[in-house]
Amino acid sequence: MIGESKKNGLMVQRQASIIDLDDIELERHFQHTGIGFPTSAPTGERLFDANGNHPLTDAERSQMIERAEAKFAELFEILRIDRNDPNSADTPHRLAKMWVGELFKGRFTEAPRITVFPNRKSVDELVISKGIKVMSVCSHHWQPISGECAIGYVPRDKVIGLSKFTRIVEWFSRRGQIQEELGEQIADFLVELLDPIALGVIISSKHYCMIARGVEAHEHSVMVTSVMRGELASNTALREEFLKLGAMS
Ligand SMILES: [Zn+2]
Repeated sequence: MIGESKKNGLMVQRQASIIDLDDIELERHFQHTGIGFPTSAPTGERLFDANGNHPLTDAERSQMIERAEAKFAELFEILRIDRNDPNSADTPHRLAKMWVGELFKGRFTEAPRITVFPNRKSVDELVISKGIKVMSVCSHHWQPISGECAIGYVPRDKVIGLSKFTRIVEWFSRRGQIQEELGEQIADFLVELLDPIALGVIISSKHYCMIARGVEAHEHSVMVTSVMRGELASNTALREEFLKLGAMS
């Protein structure tokens, strides 16, 4: 099956893959191939994508930390790490707390509450915030993704405090991510929130799964992705202005 999609104003022809299929097609595919993944844990909890979100109560998160700690301790035995080593004694607990409460926090917490304001002066120029910290973890290897993000928009009826971008980027970053989807998720959220005339998200990050292992890329190597919506997708001059003003060091 050949699909067509429009990205940055360019028609792109591509071969359909599993990730192009909708839920019903995917289910049919799995039935056909006999390959499938459970959608709930044996204990009954719903499972969801690494970069998805399903808020939990404090009690549920505490229980998750306890269960994860027990499994990390088991992993130490498999990896033959002696926990009499004082440096490793409490590491399963530290790891469990870190994954649930920090690195995957955005999976289990409510969306940040963002106040929007009326665009009283009818601002119709690009508003850009750049140098927004991106600290995430790749879904494929659970290694850090570290970088920065620039967000630009042309308001329609609503504006937002620029500091709020930081909280939105953080909420989506603190999950198992791939950079392309991180940019799309941030853009979807902001389009929904602001209904802007134009919106762009550029992310430039180092992927430690490529630096610490694998191809062992140079530490300065970065991956850059961009998402352009509305007039930033259709208006070349506006896009060039955003790329120039939003350029990161
Ligand atoms: Zn990776």
